[in-house]
Amino acid sequence: MKRVLVLGCTGSIGTNTLDIIRNMPESFQAAGLTANTNEQKLSVLSQEFHCPSSLTSRDGTAGVQKLIDTTKPDIVVNGIAGSAGLEPSRIVLENGIDLALANKETIVMAAPLVQKLAEKNHCRILPVDSEHSAIFNLIERCGKNTIDSILITASGGPFRTLSKDKLENVTVKDALKHPTWNMGKKITIDSATLANKGLEVIEANRLFHIDTDHIQVVVHPQSLIHSLVRTKDGELYAQISEPDMKHPILSALSWPDILPNYMQKFDLFDHDMTFFKPRIDDFPLLDYAFKAAEFGRSYTIAYNAANEVAAIAFLNEKIRFTDIARIVHDVLLQDWTTKPDSFEAVFDADHRARVAAEGIL
Ligand code: MG
Repeated sequence: MKRVLVLGCTGSIGTNTLDIIRNMPESFQAAGLTANTNEQKLSVLSQEFHCPSSLTSRDGTAGVQKLIDTTKPDIVVNGIAGSAGLEPSRIVLENGIDLALANKETIVMAAPLVQKLAEKNHCRILPVDSEHSAIFNLIERCGKNTIDSILITASGGPFRTLSKDKLENVTVKDALKHPTWNMGKKITIDSATLANKGLEVIEANRLFHIDTDHIQVVVHPQSLIHSLVRTKDGELYAQISEPDMKHPILSALSWPDILPNYMQKFDLFDHDMTFFKPRIDDFPLLDYAFKAAEFGRSYTIAYNAANEVAAIAFLNEKIRFTDIARIVHDVLLQDWTTKPDSFEAVFDADHRARVAAEGIL
């Protein structure tokens, strides 16, 4: 029995995690819950799961530390959206607790720092992002030394086949219609611009210590293959399941075990699978991410912060869809060569990039 603390329990990752806990009571129990602002839903869930809770907008990250102290969880799921998820990740790892990580900003902004913490405190970072869960499992099962490169799949988003001139005028409503995954608003915009895939390239580069030359993005509109690895002999290995976040969440929660479960089993006969090259020229945020990962230092922090500011401005109908990439591009032209060697330095660079993006806006 694993006791699970769920950060961001009312969001998409949190809701799926609680569904697993509800359906697999012999394996998992909710130790505690947090939500950012939805106090009413948090209180309903806290009663259902008979566990303490904390409202982040009121208690701040001190609430997370307090829940860890009082509930002593075996694993923490971080399903918090955006850069607000970094500080809770740091707290979990400082307490030496395994972190099931759906918050990609933690890795994009501060991979070396959180990886050092995990090593020092003998705990693990288990990726929950579906692509990274796939790659993690494939690497663990094939053996790290056998891996030549990784192939990250991308649905291509709602504008995969839309012509370049039409991209300029797409609406927020169009961008929020994701073809395969049902997620939060900001990440859905990121899927439409391919910034989400860009963040995932950075995440893969840093989580698995694989050079960007050995990372390839493959558009696979059905989102059934969640990623692949190529071994040194040239063979490809893929991880396949329904596009349902419960699969990667359960994989992280049960690691290193593999548990029988209640989820729909994948049937090959029900599906077609197709593959395309990404349209890098029309969706430049993917290319900028490769460059930010390559340059390292504070570039990945700037990429993430500028994109967050721009994506939210688009959601608020302040800028056009194609302006998101322009803003990120212009922010990246500034000097991000400082190496962020502390969490303060990370937040400094993050703040600086947000100010730069707001300035361009
Ligand atoms: Mg993903």
